[in-house]
Amino acid sequence: MEKINLGISSCLLGETVRYDGGHKLDRFLTDTLGQYVEYVSVCPEVECGLPIPRESMHLEGDPESPRLVISRTKQDMTDRMVRWAKRRVVAIEEEDLCGFIFKSDSPSSGMERVRVYNEKGMPVRKGIGMFARIFMEHFPLLPVEDEGRLHDPGLRETFIERIFTLKRWREVITKKESRGNVVEFHTKHKLLILSHSPRHYQIMGKLVAQAKDLSLKELYWQYQTWLMESVRLKASPQKNANVLQHMMGYFKEQLSSDEKQELLEVIDNYRQEYIPLIVPITLVQHYVRKYDQPYLKEQVYLNPHPVELQLRNHV
Ligand code: SF4
Repeated sequence: MEKINLGISSCLLGETVRYDGGHKLDRFLTDTLGQYVEYVSVCPEVECGLPIPRESMHLEGDPESPRLVISRTKQDMTDRMVRWAKRRVVAIEEEDLCGFIFKSDSPSSGMERVRVYNEKGMPVRKGIGMFARIFMEHFPLLPVEDEGRLHDPGLRETFIERIFTLKRWREVITKKESRGNVVEFHTKHKLLILSHSPRHYQIMGKLVAQAKDLSLKELYWQYQTWLMESVRLKASPQKNANVLQHMMGYFKEQLSSDEKQELLEVIDNYRQEYIPLIVPITLVQHYVRKYDQPYLKEQVYLNPHPVELQLRNHV
């Protein structure tokens, strides 16, 4: 797979663009995830023409539609930022992004819980950074996260699974449109979808079964929407354990009673969160290889992202 294009707040890459001339380098993003992605760096405050260093800014007013102001002078920078951001998101369409990682807490780049100050100068953590809001409105289906939330192993695993899934789907889109390509993609992703949402698994199964009743354009559009919605939902231990038991059904006949017992115990230990997901996955992979199970061999669920990222060692 070629590298994934991912937008990112410039300061997270170590670029010295912050108001105080500093940066917020995040080593996981640059050194680890950076091996698999091509970052498109965006610093809204510098790109809209503000200098480095500069006065700090904050959001104030109505948390639903706050103003962006310079903290000391109260100069209102909202119109300048909005004009630039609306142009920038249109330009970003060319970048074929599979997601965006925002800098948390920033009045320009924060994607949630950014401080918005009321007229008494009291903050409420209900705001969205000015650029982040315009970006998310423009690309509602694109996976987005901030670097703070990515320290949570579950959120990290979900986000990275989403960007890799979108990248694989984009590869389907670049081929000639055909119902067969959608069916093939869906067949490989069935268990991945099931691990996120049994409801989406059912809906998407019906959609694909009725593919010939839809125009290709409609099929692609509906499928993409359901796909991105499904992988956005967190895959819990309970959901993963159900998928693992479902997989076990494919080679149940071949397993000895000891092997069956061992696998059930490992799945149950994972369900109770005594061991990480990588343990039952590795055991299932072993049996899939050993018994050469053709359907399971193709399942993306067993390898949704590079093992070197070690994401399933922590969930
Ligand atoms: S948080 Fe956003 S606006 Fe602030 S320095 Fe980082 S990229 Fe630039």
